[in-house]
Amino acid sequence: MAQSTGGREGSGSPEPERHDIIVIGAGMAGLTAALYLARQGVDVLVVSKDLGGQLLQATVIENYPGIEAIKGVDLAMKVEKQARTFGAKFRYGELITRIERLEDGSFLLESARGSRYQAEAVILAFGKTPKRMNVPGEDEYDGRGVSYCTICDGPLYRGKNTAVVGIGDQGLEAVALLAGLCPRVYYVTPTKLFGDPDLVARVRSAENVTILEKHEPVRVLGDGRRVAGLVVRDKETGEEKTLEVEGVFVELGYEAKTEFVKHLVDLNENGEIVTDCMGATRTPGLFAAGDVTHIPFKQAVISAGDGAKAALAAFNYLQKRRGRNVEIKGDWKKTGRVKPKVQLRVGLKKRKEQ
Ligand SMILES: Cc1cc2nc3c(=O)[nH]c(=O)nc-3n(C[C@H](O)[C@H](O)[C@H](O)COP(=O)(O)OP(=O)(O)OC[C@H]3O[C@@H](n4cnc5c(N)ncnc54)[C@H](O)[C@@H]3O)c2cc1C
Repeated sequence: MAQSTGGREGSGSPEPERHDIIVIGAGMAGLTAALYLARQGVDVLVVSKDLGGQLLQATVIENYPGIEAIKGVDLAMKVEKQARTFGAKFRYGELITRIERLEDGSFLLESARGSRYQAEAVILAFGKTPKRMNVPGEDEYDGRGVSYCTICDGPLYRGKNTAVVGIGDQGLEAVALLAGLCPRVYYVTPTKLFGDPDLVARVRSAENVTILEKHEPVRVLGDGRRVAGLVVRDKETGEEKTLEVEGVFVELGYEAKTEFVKHLVDLNENGEIVTDCMGATRTPGLFAAGDVTHIPFKQAVISAGDGAKAALAAFNYLQKRRGRNVEIKGDWKKTGRVKPKVQLRVGLKKRKEQ
């Protein structure tokens, strides 16, 4: 039987879907947290906009321990599969926009499309989101010519003129990629060109790239269906011009969109969530992990470690809340559900013989 939510009673809203713990975000931090919670037998649901987060944009990762080189998307899919093996559940296409702590200490979450979820503990692992241009037409043509992931969407614009609105290495990499696909690429950047010297040289020498330094976007133009152009302004002279492009790629960096949780957590000057060394926020039962937090060095392996830590701490919180005195210190359990590859043993034997 459904429990009282303790809030918004009589509002006519449908009963929320309940789980022990909900993880917001299916990037490296959220996926790892789900794996660790599922291994403890916790009923865990991951609610996320997408699978992979920033990993989707990493063409190749060469510094994840134990894996020489892997596409970001493949790494995400591997961890998701591993978490599913132990019973973690996933819900994609959901953007959480509201979170409240109810009188009974549980949390009520709401998504942009009106879904409602309730859990005894929540792990905030919603990482960083691409910065927007904040100009007219951007929202209207988002996904219809405006893209925030050149690696994902660039190949769809082969043979078409495009513009990159970007900064630093991130912008330069996008331009270099599109220069190999598009007849003309405009690079609109708010400063003088800067970044990795090799990338700068590559972009400067590409014949089909027009560099517009110290320029800013003014408005995205469209025909009602798709992008048809981009109006840009010279920041020094104020002169405006229209670029005839069918794709606008925004590569301006990333930000932590923590506005909807700020009543429950402390934020630092970058808007990142401040946690203790266990991933706990100032609200009991609310944990955070990965790039959305104040931890330094935004890396896949660090988000993974952070997710594991927050998961174990959230598990201990849940046990205590339920009056069970069985705090765990780590997870060394061998379930036998997945057998190690035989080659590994052969490899070790060979190494011993050497
Ligand atoms: C181009 C690029 C290359 C990189 N290369 C490397 C590399 O070589 N090596 C390395 O170690 N690291 C690399 N990184 C960094 C690494 O990818 C990140 O540090 C790491 O993946 C962050 O994981 P995360 O789970 O903390 O956050 P994210 O990856 O940002 O994941 C956040 C998740 O939350 C979801 N989400 C966001 N808001 C909401 C919401 N309100 N409701 C529901 N879901 C939400 C997102 O859709 C996403 O699934 C790279 C990053 C980029 C962008």
